[in-house]
Amino acid sequence: MDTITWLSDERIIFRTMSDSKIRVRFAPSPTGGLHLGGVRTVLFNYLFARQHHGKFILRIEDTDQSRYVPGAEDYIWRCLQWCGLLPDEGPHVGGPFGPYRQSERKNIYQTYAHQLVEQGQAYYAFDTPEELEAKRREQPNFQYDVHSRWQMKNSLTLPAQQVKDLLQQGYPYVIRIRMPENTTLRMHDLIRGEVEFQTEQVDDKVLLKADGMPTYHLAVVVDDYLMQISHVFRGEEWLPSTPVHLLLWEYLFGKQHMPQWAHLPLILRPDGHGKLSKRDGDRLGFPVYAMDWTDPFTGETTRGFREMGFLPEAFVNMLALLGWNDGSGQEIFTLEELVERFSIERIHKAGARFDFEKAKWFNHEWIKRLPASHFAPEVKKIFAQHQIPIPQDNQFLQVLELVKERCNLLTDFVAQAGFFFQPPATYDRAAIEKKWNPQMKACFEAWMATLTDLVPWNATTLEQSLQEVATRHGLKKNDCLLPLRIMLVGGKFGPPVFQIAERLGKAETRQRIQRALQHF
Ligand code: GLU
Repeated sequence: MDTITWLSDERIIFRTMSDSKIRVRFAPSPTGGLHLGGVRTVLFNYLFARQHHGKFILRIEDTDQSRYVPGAEDYIWRCLQWCGLLPDEGPHVGGPFGPYRQSERKNIYQTYAHQLVEQGQAYYAFDTPEELEAKRREQPNFQYDVHSRWQMKNSLTLPAQQVKDLLQQGYPYVIRIRMPENTTLRMHDLIRGEVEFQTEQVDDKVLLKADGMPTYHLAVVVDDYLMQISHVFRGEEWLPSTPVHLLLWEYLFGKQHMPQWAHLPLILRPDGHGKLSKRDGDRLGFPVYAMDWTDPFTGETTRGFREMGFLPEAFVNMLALLGWNDGSGQEIFTLEELVERFSIERIHKAGARFDFEKAKWFNHEWIKRLPASHFAPEVKKIFAQHQIPIPQDNQFLQVLELVKERCNLLTDFVAQAGFFFQPPATYDRAAIEKKWNPQMKACFEAWMATLTDLVPWNATTLEQSLQEVATRHGLKKNDCLLPLRIMLVGGKFGPPVFQIAERLGKAETRQRIQRALQHF
């Protein structure tokens, strides 16, 4: 058995190249919403590039026309903007290695595919889709590989003259890689260590399709080479394709130019069983995509973290900790801190479980930490969607500051702060049913009267005055708190009730009590 090894002394993290030669890329296919695992790949690429003063590249891998979804590329770009993880080079910003959309580079790849055929490392395959289908029906696990290729219609099995004729007649063909027989491929992965692949288990992947377009496998290697990519950080789901990439690197460009590989751990479902999918999110009621994604074909919208009320700071922070930590126990990191602390050595091999409650905890911590002015514009948008009137900035910010400790999501401000700007539409009468009686009503009526002259108007004076009036009516002040809250906000929520009254101001507080007393 042959062994090809890509393990050598040069396989150390930083090789001998200087930091400025560090070039990494995020290479999404624009096929739909951007999964949080995809954003984590962006993040790790970004952190590594920033840390080493290298370049982070966005490359759009859109050669598979059958999977192309209009709007998906623009959506990916907006997600990166929202997260603050913008590339140095890419279709929207340009750069010296463009174009950065593979569909605009399609002429580049054919030459390489034909070069591989000439070198005997790939071959023409003339099997029609119907023939392949028939084969699959006959053999459900059919794989076009080292064994089966000898029974198929290709340039390895047909006489040379017939191959020539078919090519001349313009007979449709694909180019497939010729996987070596009985060979073990070994490579060093920066996260997983030494990884082995048996070539016989990998099929002879199509490199160039009948329409002349490359498949992902060919395009990714050619572009990583032409764009001088030094490190490939990508999801673990790409590991099974890696043997094909290793061979293409060797055949086309030589091992010495090959980037270093780092396959990131999967993001798992909360129960730890299997990769987290959009379907799991739908089923369990949490987002999986970075931002809302509307499928242009079905019109169906899938909720994103952003629209669910996440701050980009929290989203990015949470993602960094899915499969990585700095060993100190610290959990809250700014992007700058992450750039400083990130290290490949501390990325785990094992899959990282996604925990939505923990994700909300990160958001809560960030809402607490950031000044309200930072997220007020987003909360205003949410208020507008709920038809909540938005007051002047100053008042708005003060209210957000007052209640932010109670919010996990930006959307929580609707319930926690909306009532400051509009009187309650309904009252949770059931909450006070047991305590409410004519004596209490009389107490509130009396308090209303005293409030006209209350100076200064603040939580302390309000509390004192209710205390006095309640005592005069033979009641306990504390028994009056919930009824007061229901009068002011409609339900059992919000910050301490006298603080609410202080902020509402005298006129509004009195009006709300008066209005409620008519209902109670
Ligand atoms: N185009 C692949 C994707 O959709 C990129 C995989 C890679 O980074 O090599 O994720």
